[in-house]
Amino acid sequence: MHVTPPPPWPPKSGASRAVALEILRYGPLSRSEVARRLDLSQGSLTRLSAPLLESGLLVEADEQATGRVGRGSRPLDVVAASHHFIGIKLTGDRAHGVATNLRSEVAAEADSPLASRDPKSVADTLASLTRELADAVPSVTALGIGLGGLVIDSNVVVSAPFLDWANAPLGQLVEERTGLPTVVGNDLTALTEFEHWFGAGQGLDRFAIITLGAAVGYGAVIHDRIVLGPDSGVGLVGHWPLDPLGPLCPDGHRGCAQSILTMPSITRMLSQVLGYPIEYDACLDLAERGDGAARAIVDQGGHGLGRLIAAVANLTLAERVLIGGEGARLAEAAADAVQAGIRMDRDRRASPVAVVVHLADTRKWCRGAAVLAIQRYVLGMDDPTR
Ligand SMILES: [Zn+2]
Repeated sequence: MHVTPPPPWPPKSGASRAVALEILRYGPLSRSEVARRLDLSQGSLTRLSAPLLESGLLVEADEQATGRVGRGSRPLDVVAASHHFIGIKLTGDRAHGVATNLRSEVAAEADSPLASRDPKSVADTLASLTRELADAVPSVTALGIGLGGLVIDSNVVVSAPFLDWANAPLGQLVEERTGLPTVVGNDLTALTEFEHWFGAGQGLDRFAIITLGAAVGYGAVIHDRIVLGPDSGVGLVGHWPLDPLGPLCPDGHRGCAQSILTMPSITRMLSQVLGYPIEYDACLDLAERGDGAARAIVDQGGHGLGRLIAAVANLTLAERVLIGGEGARLAEAAADAVQAGIRMDRDRRASPVAVVVHLADTRKWCRGAAVLAIQRYVLGMDDPTR
């Protein structure tokens, strides 16, 4: 495995980082377009871009590439293939990984079961998955790992309920095994940043993500910036009240998001009615075929999801709400109930909420983990949760 040293001059100031990031996300862009977008004078842009060009992070692209010939100066771009990254999404029983370039485009994909949940054993699995993915690209600049939990210093997993971890120095354990600069972060932060920079949130001033799976997740971008704090990763939206007549969650809330929207809550409720265990997709299949008990449980979840979407849109003025995660199919299986839930809590004068459902999005979570590595090791961005 060939390791690329970090770029000689990662952008240190906010202004030069903004130039690099704008071109990474939207390039190739003419100099006048970059200056206009960032409200810079041509002189300032020349001064800020010179070291970025010198370091090789930016290049002057072929004018033909943008179809704008004869504008005097050549457009600015990044060389997407100049750096590659590994992005891994870690769950309670598997690690999924991708190798990407600087624009988070996937070059290879692989996954591996976890032999055990012991942090050292998990680090061994991540290291061998990394080696496998690294073989598909010329070299690797850095590694990003996303997981459902609270992480500090881009290294220590303070708590991760699905892995039964407390204070596990995962970043250090993986760095010791791979020799790669490694960043560990919350998986929802990673997914939100992927959608923000390269996905369905690209170009939007405000959007939000709700994810359904073993838990309920929430992420938001407001005025083109992700909303983060020391509590990102605690899963605070999990106990948002949605159904005054719903079941109790383990913390004693009636009808909170966790009690009606997660995959385990839906399978548990239907299993109790049927008297035998049932898989999540089978619950949704039964509901779609008109089984009364399954329909009621799935619609209860769908109605709650609609109310949560309305709350998010009402409070953050999101232009778009993305629904993702392993359990996202609920939004389709209970589409009418979701719409009813939104209508219940949305003022009729308000614009309709644009809801986009992403099924089978494992790869996006991995690409998000790679984005965390790009932020830290190419753009020199600090740990965003500090
Ligand atoms: Zn609760």
